[in-house]
Amino acid sequence: KPVTIVCIGMAGSGKTTFMQRLNSHLHSRRTAPYVLNLDPAVHSVPFEPNIDIRDSVNYKEVMRQYNLGPNGGILTSLNLFATKVDQILKILETRTTPAPLPQSDLNPGATGGSSGASAARQKQIKHILVDTPGQIEVFVWSASGDILLGALASSFPTVIAYVIDTPRTASTSTFMSNMLYACSILYKTRLPMILVFNKTDVKDATFAKEWMTDFEAFQAALMREEETGMFGGLESGESSVAGGGGGSGYMGSLLNSMSLMLEEFYSHLKVVGVSSMTGAGVDEFFKAVQEKAEEFERDYKPELERRQ
Ligand code: GDP
Ligand code: MG
Repeated sequence: KPVTIVCIGMAGSGKTTFMQRLNSHLHSRRTAPYVLNLDPAVHSVPFEPNIDIRDSVNYKEVMRQYNLGPNGGILTSLNLFATKVDQILKILETRTTPAPLPQSDLNPGATGGSSGASAARQKQIKHILVDTPGQIEVFVWSASGDILLGALASSFPTVIAYVIDTPRTASTSTFMSNMLYACSILYKTRLPMILVFNKTDVKDATFAKEWMTDFEAFQAALMREEETGMFGGLESGESSVAGGGGGSGYMGSLLNSMSLMLEEFYSHLKVVGVSSMTGAGVDEFFKAVQEKAEEFERDYKPELERRQ
């Protein structure tokens, strides 16, 4: 069975670019993936999805018709799409088995994905790639996101690729916020997770890996930032969680105790640094996928079945 890789991450972290990189990497290895776009609001995708939410729902029209703002529009589009989940699963099941079937995807008129789709029909598909809306909470904290993710995970080994904007997470407080968010997603989805530190062409991810394995290194960075007044990431123009720069008091001790808690969380993760721009780290990512897919079958699937 193909492994499903669901890309989740903050807006602008590089999910779509990462998907494009995975897609072209797999194509070059002649193992074309099956690609789903679940972002109704994206203008153009740099890859050709086999199933595209934009073919079933018109986000702008949904906004107009239901008198919604952008977030409501995305959420409602996702809800409408989630009503087709059975149909989507059926397509995935038939498309990802080698039997040569006539073309009848959700978007019959589309010329896109033809090369991928035809190659796919001749060969066993090994990966399903899923791109999610830019607004992370719309997918992670909505009923329709639950339904779609649950459906995928009940049919295929499914792993979450949590994509992180490495240059923007270089201060201890933004790093910690991002890790807590990833942690909440792990517990919400209960699926194996790979942390993808993206944009390593701009900033190397060694610091992150070090902070995740060596608590003292994190503490040292924390202290350095407090001393230099960099605390809260104000240096890089990010807004501070503490609401001010001079947060050596409770923020410092809070971050300290949280990082102890996070040690347990980190032990469940795979961490890779990649550049979606250059392709660095992609091989390592696929190794992590393999590992996590096995873990899914061994640890997560029995748990999923028990909960159903
Ligand atoms: P999404 O909202 O998570 O789907 O993010 P996008 O894929 O649209 O990327 C957001 C921005 O980050 C775009 O301007 C990309 O060109 C840029 N970006 C994505 N990945 C990389 C990377 O690996 N390196 C660099 N330098 N920029 C990247
Ligand atoms: Mg995107």
